[in-house]
This record gives sequence, structure tokens and C-alpha cells, in this order.
Amino acid sequence: FERKKVLVLGAGYAGLQTVSKLQKLIGFQDADITLINKNEYHYEATWLHETAAGTINWEDGTYPISKVVDAQKVKFVPAEVTAIHKDEKRVETNQGDFEFDILVVALGFESETFGIPGMEEHAQSIVNPQTASAVRKEIEENFANYKQSGDDNDLSILVGGAGFTGIEFLGELVESLPELTKKHKIDYNKVKVTCVEAMPSMLPMFPEHLGKYAQEYLEKRGVEFLIGTPIVATNEKGFVVKQNDTEKQLEGNNVIWTAGVRGSRLMEASFDGVKRGRIVTKQDLTIEGYDNIFVIGDVAAVMNGEGADARPYPTTAQIAMQLGEHTAKNIKLKLEGEKLKSFKYDDKGTVCSLGSSDGIGIALGREIKGKKAAFMKRVIDSRAIFKIGGPFLAYSKGKLF
Ligand code: NAD
Repeated sequence: FERKKVLVLGAGYAGLQTVSKLQKLIGFQDADITLINKNEYHYEATWLHETAAGTINWEDGTYPISKVVDAQKVKFVPAEVTAIHKDEKRVETNQGDFEFDILVVALGFESETFGIPGMEEHAQSIVNPQTASAVRKEIEENFANYKQSGDDNDLSILVGGAGFTGIEFLGELVESLPELTKKHKIDYNKVKVTCVEAMPSMLPMFPEHLGKYAQEYLEKRGVEFLIGTPIVATNEKGFVVKQNDTEKQLEGNNVIWTAGVRGSRLMEASFDGVKRGRIVTKQDLTIEGYDNIFVIGDVAAVMNGEGADARPYPTTAQIAMQLGEHTAKNIKLKLEGEKLKSFKYDDKGTVCSLGSSDGIGIALGREIKGKKAAFMKRVIDSRAIFKIGGPFLAYSKGKLF
């Protein structure tokens, strides 16, 4: 009798939650579980905007994966996945090959620039601890350089996209900039923060008045919004935008693209029918033709039902964790030879932070803003750690104390 090989790729919210739950559900003798992740640590992807703005250090939003995995039941291998051979039931990594009977693909997201010329070369993104730290570093260096250069563009910050990431980043930025300007003896009025959004409104998923609250909060602190203004190119000077059919150059030496994400590029290379790194899953979270391969998190397009009206759920940490939990339960059923269950999303709401003490959102069906939203955000951030790593990890890494 050979134990079935369960292989989990990725230790983000989806993958790590799968492992954390699975190791509780099954015994050592039930399966041979291996978790593969590029880094030895898990990072809180939902805190990256804080690292980017410098309100936290990147280490604050990470913890060692060894703190979560039960070494008796799970083998953790720090390695980078380079290819998935779905039919051969084999995964290639930079540390060798791994075979599987059951595979969980949870490889997460990357930046997507939609082929906008110059974006890859001239803009920074906020997609992992390294890129987030680089954003902070660039701003620090340009502000430090200003005294010498006298170049106003050193103090000009351009943010592309007013989605969740853009708004949350701006919220942190207006909190951290006063201190940075003080440190470098810069007149705060000289700092220019511009956010460019292609759509005619921001944060359309919230009621209009909440979106307006966020906009006014940021405008009051010096952010200028250019709404209904697509970015069409990026160059060494900054963004090129389109306004009333004419192109205009926006200048700034701090250029941050927060306007697009996609699932891992490994998805296109490994599976058919992948769009922007996401593959449509079946309701039990496996993919068509492969009832031994689960795909979850930002590489999955999990539909909110069946039929022509079905839409994919958004890619959020909340949903990724629920997908992970569900996958663990389905793997247990599979090992027992039982029928898999369909996933049902339990939407607990969404909060968009505006720095550490303000925000907007919908929580448990209620609209919230201000301090209450900021508090809920702390609860949400801490709960994610609690759900994956338990109370002691939530105490040491969470945001409630
Ligand atoms: P997004 O895709 O949600 O938002 C990108 C924004 O950029 C959009 O408003 C879009 O109109 C704009 N945009 C796109 N192309 C543009 C262009 N050429 N010029 C100007 N603007 C352009 O990306 P995101 O904010 O990084 O979010 C990604 C996912 O993560 C979403 O599913 C989101 O819900 C989730 N998320 C959630 C939270 C939260 O719940 N607090 C926080 C961050 C991210």
C-alpha cells in the first residue's frame, strides 16, 4: 500500500491554507503531502502597499512557512516551479522533479501591463515584497536626491490605476510622506502625487458615496486624481496619458503601476484555455479533464454558478483562503473515495484601507467608513494569519496588538 502523493504548489493564501487545513484533517498514514514554494516565507500580499509606502518593513508582513506546516505530515521544499506536466503527473522545479497523484496549483499573481509600451521598463509594481520594497526605495532615493538635483520631478509621484491597490497605496503614502519630507527638509507643498485612472469612476464595487469619501480623503491630503484618463505609454519622464483624444506627458521620477494583475505565467505554459493566467475551474475546484488537479487562488477563475450568466469571483485573499479550505476538504474526500463537494463562497465583505486609521468598506452586510473601517481591516488582516497559522502566530504577526 502506497500513500497517495499530494503536491501543493505555492504558499500564498490559497496554497498555505490548503496545507494548514489538510494537515489537520488527515493523518500521517493517509497521504504524502509536499508543499513547494519559491521562498521560505509566506508574505501577506494584502499588506504590500504598506511596504511600498514605507509604513511597514517587508519582514513585518512575512512569516516562515515552517511556523505553519506540521513537519510530521508535510514536507516543505523551498524551490521554484519551472514546469507542470499535467499528463505525466510531474512538476519540474529548480530543485528537481516531483511526482503527484493529486496536485494543487496555487501559484498566485504577477503584474500585467497589457502591453503598454515602456511600462515594464519604466514603472514599478506592487506585486511581491521585493517590488514593494523597490517602490519605497525609489521614493526615498529621489526625495534624498532632491536637495542636490533641485528637480521637481524627484518629488512627483505618479500612480497608475485607482483600483484597490492604487487607493490603498495612496492611503499609506499620504500617511508616510509628511515624515519623509521632514527627514529631508522638503516643503510638503512641493510634493506632487497624481493618480491616473482610465475608468470614469473609482472603486465601482462600492456605493458611490463611499468611493467619494475615499477620493475626498485622499484629495484633502494632496492627491490629484485624473479620472477617465487612460495611460497609453510610459517613458523615462513618466506616464503618457490620453485626455480628450490628445496625448499628454505627465512627469515624475516615481512611477508606480497598480493597474493590472494576472495569474502566474506558468499557467499558459502548462494548461489549455488559460486567460491572463487564470483557468476556469469546475465547481469542485478541479479542472476539466483532470479530476486530480485542483486550481485555486489568483490562477483560478472560479465561477459564481453555472450557465451563461456565471461570472468569475474576484481574486482576493478572502476567497483564496476559502478555496484553500474547500480544497483540503475535497482532497480528504478524494482520498476516501468519496464524491467531491461544490464550492460556495461566503462573502464577508470588503474593506479598502486609507492608511492606518481610516477606510471604507462593507462588512457583514453593513457599510462602514472611518475608524470603524480601519478597525475592521485590522481584524481582517489578523484573521487571515489566525486562520492559517493559529492564535500564537496571529498574536505575534497580526495587527490587533
Ligand atoms: P484592479 O484590476 O482591480 O484595478 C486596476 C485599476 O486600474 C482599475 O480601476 C482600472 O480601470 C485601472 N486601469 C487599468 N488600465 C489602465 C490604464 N491603462 N490607465 C489607467 N488606469 C487603468 O487591480 P488591483 O487594485 O491591483 O486589484 C487586483 C485584485 O486584488 C482585485 O481582485 C482586487 O479586488 C483585489 N484587491 C483587494 C483588496 C482589498 O480587498 N482591500 C486590496 C487590493 C487588491
